[in-house]
Amino acid sequence: MTKRTSSAPLEDWDRKYLWHPFTQMQEWAQETPLIIERGKGSALFDTEGRVYLDGTSSIWVNLHGHRRLELDRAIKQQLGKVAHSTLLGLSNPPAIRLARELVRIAPKGLSRVFYSDNGSTAVEVALKMAVQYWQQRRPNAGPKKTFLHLKLAYHGDTVGAVSVGNIELFHSRFKPLLFPTIAAEPPYCYRCPLKLTYPSCDMACIDPVERMLKTRHRELAGFIVEPLVQAAAGMIVQPPGYLKRIRELCTQYEVLLIADEVATGFGRTGKMFACQHEGVTPDLMAVSKGLTGGYMPLAATLTTEEIYRAFLGKYEEFKTFFHGHSYTGNPLGCAVALANLEIFRKEKTLAGLRPKIAALARWLPPLKQLDHVGEIRQRGLMVGIELVRNRATKTPYPVGERIGHRVAREARTRGLLMRPIGNVIVLMPPLSASLAELQRMAAIVEASIRSL
Ligand SMILES: *Cc1c(COP(=O)(O)O)cnc(C)c1O
Repeated sequence: MTKRTSSAPLEDWDRKYLWHPFTQMQEWAQETPLIIERGKGSALFDTEGRVYLDGTSSIWVNLHGHRRLELDRAIKQQLGKVAHSTLLGLSNPPAIRLARELVRIAPKGLSRVFYSDNGSTAVEVALKMAVQYWQQRRPNAGPKKTFLHLKLAYHGDTVGAVSVGNIELFHSRFKPLLFPTIAAEPPYCYRCPLKLTYPSCDMACIDPVERMLKTRHRELAGFIVEPLVQAAAGMIVQPPGYLKRIRELCTQYEVLLIADEVATGFGRTGKMFACQHEGVTPDLMAVSKGLTGGYMPLAATLTTEEIYRAFLGKYEEFKTFFHGHSYTGNPLGCAVALANLEIFRKEKTLAGLRPKIAALARWLPPLKQLDHVGEIRQRGLMVGIELVRNRATKTPYPVGERIGHRVAREARTRGLLMRPIGNVIVLMPPLSASLAELQRMAAIVEASIRSL
């Protein structure tokens, strides 16, 4: 325990000056804010010295734990050189080295790296690249200017990313700002939109997707998907072969496949990228969250030489990709991202995940015995537990009951930080969490659900 610090003025100032994301501030103002002061490994410590397990990887970004010596050091070393310089007309060593490293580990065929600052901007870049690509490469392919996406998709909070997203609660307010898109039913097997059962359904949900591609491909610049797991939808796990089939269809109908690996990238599903489970190379791939191991805001959009080449020409042809952010290729971010990827190599992180993933797959299913657990979904270290009022009928809890929120509250008093998505309890531990820590997280989740 650290010495008790006085957090009273901080609590007041938080209520007085801050506006928290995705937060009803009227509620927030009546609670005592939990103020995190430091971290170590899978643990976070508040200003009162209380310790919590980081069950969300600090909202899906942390990989190798907090205060990793190598990552701290990478930032300090880079600080000794320069904190920031620009990629507009200049370059810098960490940005160059990181691009090379990303190409090395990415699905084969992705060979170019364009930096931005967060998952939403990485998606925006992919959307704009796709539209401009068709204009310059194949103007006769159609007015390819919109996108196909899945319902319940989440690709970020900026306006373009919201346009291709489909989470009613987050997005409905902003409809007047959005561009038109085409939405397909997701493979949400627990609540199958076609009322079928996997695997006897033979993935019938792909058929309407194929029909849309077939009839509307001339309008479609791309199909954007979260490969394998629709995370913010409540960890909806796609059946094996789904992504591969989407890849085949996109190729067949000449629609670019955009993989949003912002949540799934960097080991979260058990492989470096989710696409690699199915041997899929997308045409564009957005990464962020885990890219710096949870240290700095940084993102990248990777693409193929085919797409890159469509942007080459004389200046006055105006084929340039006119897009960029002030902090594009930030050296501190790129330096820590390099050190982050180096840990994967040095510690064989991916191989080390296998026993952890298997252990969670043993510890979680018994929770299905609990009265209100409808489904447990796990892919790698991404877990969603869907709570229902009635298991037989799969009747959801009314939103107003805030069941997920209440379970997370219980978990917090037991020393585990979680952030639910509606009625889905989400567990996304750092890849570095030990077996003992994972077991403790699973036990706290169980006790918290039981207590309600
Ligand atoms: C979090 C997330 C984003 C948005 O990333 P930000 O860094 O929050 O802008 C985009 N896509 C997916 C799949 C995500 O999980």
